[in-house]
Amino acid sequence: MEQTALKVQNFIQGTWHEPAASEWLDVINPATTKVIARVPVTPASEVNRAVEAAAAAYPEWRRTPPLERVQYLFRLKMLLENAVDDLARIITNECGKTYGESVGEIQRGIENVEVACGIPTLMQGYNNEDIASGIDEHMIRQPLGVVAAITPFNFPAMIPLWFLPYAVATGNCFLLKPSEKVPMTSVRLFELIEQAGFPEGVLQLVNGSKETVDAILDHPDIKAISFVGSTPVAKYIYSRATANGKRAQCQGGAKNPVVVLPDADMEMTTRIIADSSFGCAGQRCLATSLAITVGEARNLFTENIADAAASRVVGYGLDEGVQMGPVIRGDSKARIDTLIGQGAKEGATVLVDGRGKRVKGYEDGHFVFPTILDGLPHESDLSRTEIFGPVLSLLHVNTIDEAIKLVNDRSFGNMACIFTSSGAAARKFRYEAVAGNIGINVGVAAPMAFFPFSGWGESFFGDLHAQGRHGVEFYTQTKVVVERWPKEWSRQF
Ligand code: NAD
Repeated sequence: MEQTALKVQNFIQGTWHEPAASEWLDVINPATTKVIARVPVTPASEVNRAVEAAAAAYPEWRRTPPLERVQYLFRLKMLLENAVDDLARIITNECGKTYGESVGEIQRGIENVEVACGIPTLMQGYNNEDIASGIDEHMIRQPLGVVAAITPFNFPAMIPLWFLPYAVATGNCFLLKPSEKVPMTSVRLFELIEQAGFPEGVLQLVNGSKETVDAILDHPDIKAISFVGSTPVAKYIYSRATANGKRAQCQGGAKNPVVVLPDADMEMTTRIIADSSFGCAGQRCLATSLAITVGEARNLFTENIADAAASRVVGYGLDEGVQMGPVIRGDSKARIDTLIGQGAKEGATVLVDGRGKRVKGYEDGHFVFPTILDGLPHESDLSRTEIFGPVLSLLHVNTIDEAIKLVNDRSFGNMACIFTSSGAAARKFRYEAVAGNIGINVGVAAPMAFFPFSGWGESFFGDLHAQGRHGVEFYTQTKVVVERWPKEWSRQF
C-alpha cells in the first residue's frame, strides 16, 4: 500500500472531514489492482453527529418552499452535466466498467434529478369539498425528517441519485452511505452538492461498511431507509430497519431470464442479449443471466451468442475500443470461476470459457471473460443462483408455455424479457411473467426515472419502489384534514 493513497473524507454539516475511524479499507482499481484510496469505517459516534446535523437542518429545510428547494437541484443538474467526463473516469477507475458505461449511468442518474425538479407538482395532495354538508377534506404530503440510503458498488453515481433528489426535494434531510468499494464517486458527487450551495446539514456523506450501516439502522432519528444491494443484506436491512420502526425500501439481487422465440430477429436479439449479459461485466441487477430458447431458435441463437461472447473486447475501461471491464474484486472473480465450474458439474457444456484469461498490460486485473454455459439443466442450483459476472446460461425448451414456466419458477423477480415478432406472444408474456420489470425486444428493461424500479419477489422488500412517484410517496407521509367552518362563527359581510 502506498503511503500517499488518498484518505476518503466524510461530508457532515457542510464541511469535509476525516473521521476518527479505527479501521480503514483499501479502494482499488480492479483493472490494475492498484490501491487508489483508503476509506474509513465511520463509527457510530460520527454517524450520530451526521444525524444531529441533519435533524438540526430539517425544520428550516422543510419550511423552504418546494419551488425554492428545487432550485438547488436545477443547479446540481448543471454541475453534474459539466462534470460527466470527470465523474465517468472516477467510476471506471474504482468500479471497472467502461468509460461509455460510466457516462450512461451518470445520464440515468441526472434524469432522476430532472424528475425531482417537478416536485411542486408531484408532491401535490388532493381534496374534496362537501364530504358532508359544509365540511371539506384535504390530503397533504409532508416530509418524514431525516432519511438515509445505503448503496451498492455497481452503479456508484446512478443509484444514490435514485433516492437523493426525491428525498431533499420533498423536504427531508438525507444521509448517504455509499459502497466502501467505490467511495470516490460519492465524494465527487458531494463536491458538486457543495457547489450547488445546499444549506448545511441537508445532505451528508458518511463512508463505511457494516458497523456504519448498523449505526444508521439503529438511530432513532432516521425515519426511512433506502437500500440497494444483494438479497441477503437487503433482507437483513429490511428486517432491522422495520423492527426499529422505520420505513424501508430494499432492492436485492436477481437472476434474470430472457425467452428467445424462433420468430425473433436473431441478429438484433443476439446483439441486445450479449450487451445485457456482458455489459458492465454482468454486474448489473438487470443483466440477463439465463437465455431460454424455444424450438428452432436454439441453433442459430446458440451459434450467434457464442460468437458474440468470444469476440467481446475485454480490458481497462478507459482504453480505446474496450467493450467490457473487470469484475470488482479478486474474490468476485474467484466466486464466478467456481460457479462456472459448478455449472459444468451440474450438466452444462462450457461453450465459451472466460476463466483463466489475462489482459495484456493488466495481467493482475480481476478479469473474467464472457462465458456461455450451454444446456444448463433447469433443476440445477446454478439456474437459481445469482452469478453477478459475465456468464450467460442457455436453456432449451419446445414451447412458449414451457419457457414461461421456467421464467416463473424462481424466487427473484427483478426482470424478464422476451424476443419475438409476435404481438400475441409478447402480450401473453407480459401478462403471465412473474417479474416487476418486463422487456419486450429489450434486454435491460431499466425503468426511466419517472417510472418505479419494480423488482418483485426476493429482488425487493417493501412496498414503494425507487424513482418517480413511488419515490415521492416513500419520502412523504400523508396528512388528512377534515374541516368545518360554520357560517354563524364568522362575521357576516
Ligand atoms: P452488498 O449487499 O454487498 O452491499 C450493498 C451495501 O450494503 C454496501 O453499502 C455495503 O457496505 C452494505 N453491506 C454489505 N454487507 C453488509 C452487512 N452485512 N450489514 C450491513 N451492511 C452491509 O451488494 P454489492 O456487492 O455492493 O452490490 C451487488 C448486489 O446488488 C447484487 O446482488 C445486485 O444484484 C444488487 N443490485 C440490485 C439492484 C436492484 O435494483 N435490485 C441494483 C444494483 C445492484
